[in-house]
Formats: sequence, C-alpha cells, structure tokens
Amino acid sequence: MTLVCGCGLLREEVDAVVSFHGHFCVGLAIGIRVGEWVCREFGYSEDEELVSVVETDMCAVDAIQFLVGCTFGKGNLIFLDYGKNAYSFFRRSDGKNIRIAGRVVDGVGFVAKLLADLKERQRKIDAADIEGQNQIRKIMIERIMQTNFDNMFTIMPARIPIPEKARIHKSLPCEKCGELVMETRLQKNKKGKNICKECLLNEE
Ligand SMILES: [Zn+2]
Ligand SMILES: [Zn+2]
Repeated sequence: MTLVCGCGLLREEVDAVVSFHGHFCVGLAIGIRVGEWVCREFGYSEDEELVSVVETDMCAVDAIQFLVGCTFGKGNLIFLDYGKNAYSFFRRSDGKNIRIAGRVVDGVGFVAKLLADLKERQRKIDAADIEGQNQIRKIMIERIMQTNFDNMFTIMPARIPIPEKARIHKSLPCEKCGELVMETRLQKNKKGKNICKECLLNEE
C-alpha cells in the first residue's frame, strides 16, 4: 500500500475516485486534493454531518462527493452556479467551516501557472496523437497531486451562513400538467394558478 505523494490517500482510494468519475483528469485531481484535505479536517459525512457548497459543477465536485460524503442525493451538496474553483464546507455539530478557493497569483490561477508549460507542449502535439496527449495529461495530474496544498488554494472562513438542513416537503399537483411537485417549488403564474417551473417556463 503506497500513499500518493503530496496527498494522504492510498493508491486504491484514488483509483476508487477515478472509477466513480469515469476518467482521471486535471479537474478530478483538484477535487481529490480538496476532498482529501477536508476529510482529514472535518471527517467523512456518513449522513448529513457536513454540508458542502460548491461554486462550480466541474469534474472536481465528483471527487468531493466521493471522498467527503457530501452528495447531491443526500442534499448536503449545494451547487451555486458561480463558475469558481471554490468549495465551502460546514460541520453541523460545532459550526466549523471553511472556504477553499483556487489561489490567484498576479491575476492568474496558480494551477494554470503550474501547468502552463505542459499546456504549451500539449498544443504542439497533434490532437489525433492520443498516446502523446495522455502522456501530457498524466504529467499534469502528477503535478496537481504533488503540489503543496497551500500553494494551490487560499483557505478562508466561509462567506455564507451554514445552509439549512434538507427537509422533506409534501408534493402537490401542478395545476397545468398535473404532475406532483414539491410544494416549495410551485410557482404562481399570471392567472394565479400554482404551476411547476417547467410549465411556467413554457408560458413565458
Ligand atoms: Zn473529468
Ligand atoms: Zn406542470
């Protein structure tokens, strides 16, 4: 059993994340680093002990779901469509929280800088040269896996209050399509009918 350098995970743990996601990419490597760090600091969320707010829907989020146990289905993973490489975590028992954001140096992302020479090499390789492309990607991933965490990320307190616990609501029928909708998601249309978001979009 060998630890993967720069990150406290075993090779087989990394393999498990990769098989969950489907491939090993730079984004997943970033998520593995965040997930491993958070799991060490906050523990793994079997149930809803932790809640995560992610500001991107990139590959990294799959590693976070797998390693931290904050998942879309459990309702303790909240997606904010901000397009930022940033992730907040909250522990319900004691309110401990953190926001981890990609570090920016002189207006450029540290990771982008870290990989700039490899990106350049990649550009020169023919897109059809799968072997060559894979080789470069592998080196990029190795670099992400081995770089000091504090160089890659800025760590700060969360900027938002701890999100409310996911609650179970009753479902009511949409007055247009008749399908059942969680009551908190029903919308009023111009005629004052309670309808689902899909029907509302079709009316606009
Ligand atoms: Zn990916
Ligand atoms: Zn409807």
